[in-house]
Amino acid sequence: MVTIDEIREARETIADTINETPILSSAQLSKLTGNRMFFKGEHMQRTGAFKIRGATNIVKHVVKKGAAFVTAASSGNHGQAVSYIADKLGIAATIVIPEDATVSKVNAIQAYNGKIEKCGTTSAERLPRAEELAKENNGIYIPPYDDPRIIAGQGTVGLEILQQLDDVDVVVVPIGGGGLISGILTAIKETKPSVKVIGVEPESANDTLLSLQKGEIVGIPETKTIADGLRTSEPGTMTFPIVQKYVDDIVTVSEDEIRQALFFVLERMKQLIEPSSAVAVAAAMFGKLGVKDKNVVCVLSGGNVDVRKLGELV
Ligand SMILES: *Cc1c(COP(=O)(O)O)cnc(C)c1O
Repeated sequence: MVTIDEIREARETIADTINETPILSSAQLSKLTGNRMFFKGEHMQRTGAFKIRGATNIVKHVVKKGAAFVTAASSGNHGQAVSYIADKLGIAATIVIPEDATVSKVNAIQAYNGKIEKCGTTSAERLPRAEELAKENNGIYIPPYDDPRIIAGQGTVGLEILQQLDDVDVVVVPIGGGGLISGILTAIKETKPSVKVIGVEPESANDTLLSLQKGEIVGIPETKTIADGLRTSEPGTMTFPIVQKYVDDIVTVSEDEIRQALFFVLERMKQLIEPSSAVAVAAAMFGKLGVKDKNVVCVLSGGNVDVRKLGELV
């Protein structure tokens, strides 16, 4: 398991690369929910999502060990993060993406000088290809969540929240593969266990909730939720035990609730977030957290949306 010391170390390692993102608030959502609502603004993070934290922590490590080439299998925020940090550290990166990836995502990866390789349409096809590419070229495959350095990097979000808002009661976190929440859980539960941490999944991508209920990792078929960062079909073997040990609750939200939350944040708070972030806001907005009169922080995990498709989203 990842330790609080590894997260503190990660914070130093990534300090020169990442932004300490602000905490926002909303009087309107506070009134609506009966809590004091705050938002950790990782949509304003470098590359547009928290993924740069874990990616920086691990890529800096492998470069120190002599690696000159990294690969990843992601058309989304992890792919952007890995190509960004590889470029910054002066090494090459190839990102394996699906045949049907959107132009805006390909453009973002290429803007950071990442090389693109297209492969299949499912992660089951992409992942082995990215591992193989790394092996063939004496490089390192960078996993999206199931790695101690990734988890420690994502956990720095938790350390920042505790420092920026010392009377926080509840932290609400989106769950995909579980890297973000397991890092935040470690940071928070090993320093201030009285703070509640609640995970949120789309109803159709509730693999972590099902696994928690069953007491072991349960897989589900790949889903089509608009929260494309949360489509993973099962929690990680490293992240799941941390979630099992520490999480206070996991709740789910519908596609319509995700859309309404995204719309609210855009219209009222003037912040552009992606559907994967909106799940946390939706959980608060639609009364799923079961708390009142508390200081609640929703993690706005990223803001990368194809603006041409924004109309369809809201
Ligand atoms: C990756 C991602 C998540 C989920 O993070 P995990 O570590 O896979 O649980 C949530 N939101 C955004 C914006 C992401 O990119």
